[in-house]
Amino acid sequence: MTIETCDFKGKKVIVRVDFNVPLDENGKITDDTRIRGALPTLQKVLAEGGALIIMSHMGKPKGKVNPKMSLGQIVDAVSEKLGVKVQFAPDCAKAQEAAAALQPGEVLLLENLRFYPEEEGKPVGIDKADPAYDAAKKEMKERQKEFAKTLASYADIYVNDAFGTAHRKHASTAVIADSFDADHKMLGYLMEKEVQAVDNVLSNIKRPFTAIMGGSKVSTKIGIIENLMDKVDNLILCGGMTYTFAKAMGGKIGTSICENDKLDLALEIMAKAKAKGVNLVLGTDCVAGDAFSNDANQQIVPANDIPDGWEGMDAGPETRKTFAAAIEGAKTILWNGPAGVFEFDNFTGGSRAIAEAIAKATANGAFSLIGGGDSVACINKFGMADKVSYISTGGGALLEAIEGKVLPGIAAIKG
Ligand code: AMP
Repeated sequence: MTIETCDFKGKKVIVRVDFNVPLDENGKITDDTRIRGALPTLQKVLAEGGALIIMSHMGKPKGKVNPKMSLGQIVDAVSEKLGVKVQFAPDCAKAQEAAAALQPGEVLLLENLRFYPEEEGKPVGIDKADPAYDAAKKEMKERQKEFAKTLASYADIYVNDAFGTAHRKHASTAVIADSFDADHKMLGYLMEKEVQAVDNVLSNIKRPFTAIMGGSKVSTKIGIIENLMDKVDNLILCGGMTYTFAKAMGGKIGTSICENDKLDLALEIMAKAKAKGVNLVLGTDCVAGDAFSNDANQQIVPANDIPDGWEGMDAGPETRKTFAAAIEGAKTILWNGPAGVFEFDNFTGGSRAIAEAIAKATANGAFSLIGGGDSVACINKFGMADKVSYISTGGGALLEAIEGKVLPGIAAIKG
């Protein structure tokens, strides 16, 4: 079943959303992107005369009630956005009556699912090294099933629209789906869009395909880099991880960030790229600073000859041109991770050059997917969000999907 074809009239529909929005110290929402992202799905159910039960987590309360992470704080904001007065169930596992009383067009928001350890299904208060851990885990998995059944009992139909948690096998994101047959469970619109975007870069690839991987460390990106190696034509590696490569090749990198235990890995990646015919693009020059600070003195130096006491903080002008050339000619583009310490305004130039090249390629018909918190933050900082094809709402979920892993939240519905 799909969200588009399902008839919600007279049905109770439980929707897992990602309302894990940032709040200020007064409990006011500072960025409502995630709520807006779920609206098309929620509105579809209401417009067709269904009743909505909305569930989400907020923060990491670790299985305990924590008023600072109560979804009660966002009831008014959700009411305003939906244009319907939202009711609140202060205990997500004891909402049977409130759910049963819901009429078509009405909305019930459940309290933070993670106030119950059963949501994540991990035993609390016991160390992994403890001999009793395995038994505790088994018991918690049973409790998780019961918790998921309770949530499922509130509704006729289950919709998962929380891409950000799709890589987790939690009660509300995956286990609950066991209680619904294929005609009564589906992905929401936001999930469908995310899945389509991933599919565009993994299956329906228009060539050339350029991936840009940046950020601080090669170790956290190795899974994706290896998976992409079989798919891309050009692989740009930028940001802090570059200096591990420069050092591995015998370069001088000053005080640049470097993973000394990953030098062999860097050389392996280079050899693999060569063997697979992938054009691996590494920076040739960089903007070096004499301190890790926005106000550091700067100089442009070769990426493999950085003076002592200086560190590579951003891609240099020659590098930006090489990157832009590999991006502008592409028809499929994936960007994850900045080309420099973009949080410092004086070191944003490399990331900006990438964003501009992506915008240009997109205007020429390329499909561009931006994912991972920092590259999304870059695009937003440069005010270029409307100049790329798709910005993913998923951090870890997107990266795991691109690594080729099956996401439990999607598998639970699609099989
Ligand atoms: P990641 O979380 O691995 O995607 O890395 C993102 C972080 O990498 C950002 O906070 C950037 O400031 C940082 N970063 C990018 N380039 C450099 C660099 N040359 N030196 C130190 N940190 C960097």
